Amino acid sequence: MKHRYAGTDKWYKGNTHIHTTLSDGGKSPGEAVALYRTAGYDFIAITDHWHAFHLDQDLGEIVSSSRDMLVLPGIEIDGKDELGHYYHVVALGDFEQMELSENLDSSIARLVGQNAYLILAHPYWSGNRMEDVRRYPFHALEIYNHVAAWLNGKSLALPYWDDTLRHRDDLSGIASDDAHLLPQHPGWNGGWIMVQADGLSQASILQALRAGTFYATTGPSFHRIHTEGNRITCKTTPIKQAWLVGEGYFGTRAVAAEGQLLSDFSFTIEPGSQLARSSYVRLEIEDEQGKRAWTNPL
Ligand SMILES: [Zn+2]
Ligand SMILES: [Zn+2]
Repeated sequence: MKHRYAGTDKWYKGNTHIHTTLSDGGKSPGEAVALYRTAGYDFIAITDHWHAFHLDQDLGEIVSSSRDMLVLPGIEIDGKDELGHYYHVVALGDFEQMELSENLDSSIARLVGQNAYLILAHPYWSGNRMEDVRRYPFHALEIYNHVAAWLNGKSLALPYWDDTLRHRDDLSGIASDDAHLLPQHPGWNGGWIMVQADGLSQASILQALRAGTFYATTGPSFHRIHTEGNRITCKTTPIKQAWLVGEGYFGTRAVAAEGQLLSDFSFTIEPGSQLARSSYVRLEIEDEQGKRAWTNPL
């Protein structure tokens, strides 16, 4: 195991995929910041379609001078690559403006050249193939995209993640809103990440994202994830069940007794067991409402 969550116990709440009036969203960047602040967010990324966000230019002095929330610059690009496969890609970082391009391969290469943190957005909604995930150097994929439920019910993309983790276990899983904040689909605060970082700055959050020291959630929280030897101990908000998930059908679970809930539990990976042979293991929890949270591979 990587002992990924061994650092600080300070977690920052963030959303990595939000649209504003800079593209097809219904609220201005300032209004989006104010809204997310009311739900306890420490940071949000503004990721409009084909618009590289620039803090001073796009957020304005009034909001930026009084803000107590970190705003990460980002962009979402989309299109077909040279194989004709359709992608939406969210990138976080400081970028030059980009024009809508016929060739998605070259747009992704431009973002990579500018040190982007690259997220494959809503692959299930887009109709991506499993192997599409491995064609580009994505740091993460959206395992949950909140607006996709409203659009076509395809919010959850866990099979893409598990399929890829068998080949590379450094791909992180993100839950995001993809909020547009429009009357016809007003959904927000439905999926987010909790990031374990040394401080709340663009550099420290992006560094933590690259290190994968975060988990994705639609509700429940991990307070502590401790790995020692072959033992994993966890403290969480009250949940109904937890799974330690490995490749294929490998896995094990902890289930609350009838009428009770769990918040403190552990798993031991027995030497020689299927999970000990798995190329990755990750934790997943579910609360009474059926809401879930997912760690990155441990
Ligand atoms: Zn998209
Ligand atoms: Zn989007």
